[in-house]
Amino acid sequence: MEKSGAFSPEGWGQVRFLSEPCCQACGLPFEDEAHEQVLCVSCAAPRGLPTRLTGKDRLNRLRSAVGYDQVTAPLIMALKYGDRHDLAQIFGRLLVSPLEALRAPSDARLLPVPLHPRRLRERRFNQSGLIAQALAQQTGMPLDQRSLQRHRATPQQKGLGPQARLRNAAGAFTATDGAEGGAFILVDDVLTSGATLIACARALRRGKARWVGAVTVARVLPNSKDPDITLPEV
Ligand SMILES: [Zn+2]
Repeated sequence: MEKSGAFSPEGWGQVRFLSEPCCQACGLPFEDEAHEQVLCVSCAAPRGLPTRLTGKDRLNRLRSAVGYDQVTAPLIMALKYGDRHDLAQIFGRLLVSPLEALRAPSDARLLPVPLHPRRLRERRFNQSGLIAQALAQQTGMPLDQRSLQRHRATPQQKGLGPQARLRNAAGAFTATDGAEGGAFILVDDVLTSGATLIACARALRRGKARWVGAVTVARVLPNSKDPDITLPEV
């Protein structure tokens, strides 16, 4: 990273950008270039699979811009904890093409994953809100920060299995009247297990939303070495 905090061309060269070929539902990149599958193993599995991110009771589609690793983790942390708000603009630009790949309904609104009000007071900003704002500015898509509310912070997720993470995040969110009939694109910084996004999607569906997709800046990929940085859950 350069002194200004901007990423040098060498830095960008080390970033793993996620693109086709990938699972058409959840965006998981296929390692094999000549991949002919449409869905990854988990999206193609029966509905109840806890690791499954997409489906009727979950997300319609999901895309992420980059792999979450030693190169990108410090940037994500710098926005979340370091007041590096300028990074939101960069992340917003990175999300333009994943957003297009979602093929969301034309009336879809960008909805940042809400922070618990107490956390918002402590931190003064919601990093997902800043990213969603930047993406809205760059694409002209409407921003919706009202249709989903968080009424409790999610306890630490690290070390929990997928089922426990889902239970942990379940019930943390409620949709407001604005969700009814709407199409939403959830915006978050990192996808780890997806439990938070699934909890958001379920809340919106309970509020009668008709379509729920998601974009995240980074995604923890299977087989990637977990970056040596612990991200506290919010
Ligand atoms: Zn998939």
